[in-house]
Amino acid sequence: MHYIDGAFVPAVETAPVHEKATGAEIGRYALGTAADVDRAVAAARRAQPGWAALGAPERAAYLTAFADHLRSRYDELVELSMRETGGVRAKAVDEVSAGLKQLAISAVEACGTAGDVLQPYKAGKLSLSRAVPLGVLGIITPWNYPVNLAMRAVAPGLAFGNTIVLKPAELTPIIGGRVLAEAADAAGLPPGVFNVVEGDGPEAGHALAEHRGLDLLDFTGSREVGTAIALSAARDLRPVRLELGGSNAFVVLEDADVELAASCALIASLEFQGQTCISASRHIVLEPVADAYVAALTRKAAALTVGNPFDGVDLGPLISEAQRDRVHERIVLPSVEKGAVVATGATYDGLFYRPTVLTGVTPDMPAFAEEIFGPVLPVTVAATEEEAIGLVNGYPMLMNSVFSRDLMRGMAVAERLNAGEVHVNDAHARHGAENQMPGFTRRQWIGVQRGPLDLPEWTRR
Ligand code: NAD
Repeated sequence: MHYIDGAFVPAVETAPVHEKATGAEIGRYALGTAADVDRAVAAARRAQPGWAALGAPERAAYLTAFADHLRSRYDELVELSMRETGGVRAKAVDEVSAGLKQLAISAVEACGTAGDVLQPYKAGKLSLSRAVPLGVLGIITPWNYPVNLAMRAVAPGLAFGNTIVLKPAELTPIIGGRVLAEAADAAGLPPGVFNVVEGDGPEAGHALAEHRGLDLLDFTGSREVGTAIALSAARDLRPVRLELGGSNAFVVLEDADVELAASCALIASLEFQGQTCISASRHIVLEPVADAYVAALTRKAAALTVGNPFDGVDLGPLISEAQRDRVHERIVLPSVEKGAVVATGATYDGLFYRPTVLTGVTPDMPAFAEEIFGPVLPVTVAATEEEAIGLVNGYPMLMNSVFSRDLMRGMAVAERLNAGEVHVNDAHARHGAENQMPGFTRRQWIGVQRGPLDLPEWTRR
C-alpha cells in the first residue's frame, strides 16, 4: 500500500513481508512502479510551497503529532521491528526510540534560526543569509534500522520546509514505511507533504533515485548501489547524498584491559547480528595480548544464544538467506581457505548464524577487506602500534575503537585513525553501555552532519 497525496493507494501487484525468525508472512507490500514514483513526486512538488509557507511552530506541531502517534503505538512498533528486522528487543527499542528522539529534536530545530546576519560587504548595507528549503526530497532507506534511518532524514527534512517521497527497503516496508505513513496521516499532515512508495530497489528505488523532479536524493545503503546512484547522478548533475558502509576497526593495544575490550567487542561486532554500518568488522590486536584477547572473545562469543528474538536470546536471525550466504560463502569460507582459523562459530541453522571468531586474518582475506554485515569477529595481530594504525587506515570506515589503559595514548592513536567517529575504551554502538574506564569519543560525524547542525544540510543558504 503506497501513501501518496494524503491517501493510501492499494497496489496492483504485491509481494510478501516475512517475520525473519519464523518465515511467517506478516503482511504484503506494494511493488511500486515508476508511475507511482511520478505521482508521489508530483504530489510532493504541489505541496511544498504551502508547507514551507507555514509558520515554524505549525510545522513543529505537526512533527510533534507525528511523534505522538508513533509513541501511542510504541510497544506494538517495538514488536513489529523485532519481527520484521529480526533484531532482539533492545535493538528494536533503540531503533524506535531514536526515531522518536529525532522527531522531538527536529520539532525544536524547526523553530530555531533561519539564517544569519552577515557583516556588510559594503558600508551602509544590511546583508542577510536566509536558509530556504531544498524543495522535494527523495529518501531511500535500508532494512537494518528502518525507523530511525528514515526519521533522521524525514524529520529534519520536514522541519525545514521540504516535502518528501520515502522508499523503504523491501525487506522491512511496514516498520520502515507504512507505519510512518499512518503516523503522518494521523497527525493530519497536509496531502503530499509526506509520501511513501513501497517497492523493490531496482524498480521503485531506481525510479526514485533517477527522478529529475527531486531537489535532493538522500540514500542510505550499500556501497554498490550508492556508487551506481552517484555515477548516474553525476551525468546530469542531480544532487545526491550518500550514507554507505565501511570496514570499521577495533584496535586493542598491549596495555588494554582485555576483558573490557572483549566485552565491548561483542557489542561493537554483534549488535543486531553485526548488520549495522558501524559494526566493528576488523579486530587489530597487539601481539603481547593477542592470545588473551582471542581467548576472552572466544569464551564470550561461544556463550551467546542465537534464536527467535521473542525467546530472550542474545542474537536473532540474519535478515535473509542472501545475507547469510554472503557472510558464509563470500566472507568466512574464502578467508578460511586463505588460512584464517575458526576459533568458534562459522555454523548456521537457517538464518541463525553462530557468532564467529576468526584468527590469523590478514589483509588479503575478505574478512579483513570487506564490510561483513554479519556476526563475525576477524582478529589480526600487529607487532607494533605503528603497524596497527597502518592496518586500520586506507579502508572506508565510519566508526573505530581503540583500547588502552593509558587514556592519553588511546586518544593519540584515535587522532590518527581515519574514521568519522573514534571511541577510546568504549564500544561502537550503544555508547557507554560497557565502559568502566575513562572513555573518549572523537567525533567528526559520519558522512553527513546530523543533530544540532541539521539546518545547513536540509536548506539552501
Ligand atoms: P542496499 O543498497 O541493498 O539497499 C538500500 C536501499 O536501496 C533499499 O531501499 C533498496 O530497495 C534500495 N535499492 C536497491 N537497489 C537500488 C537501485 N538500483 N536504485 C535505487 N535504490 C535501490 O543496502 P541494504 O542491504 O538494504 O543495507 C545494508 C547497507 O547499508 C550496508 O552496506 C550498510 O553499511 C549500509 N548502511 C549505512 C548506514 C549509514 O548511516 N552510513 C546505515 C545503515 C546501513
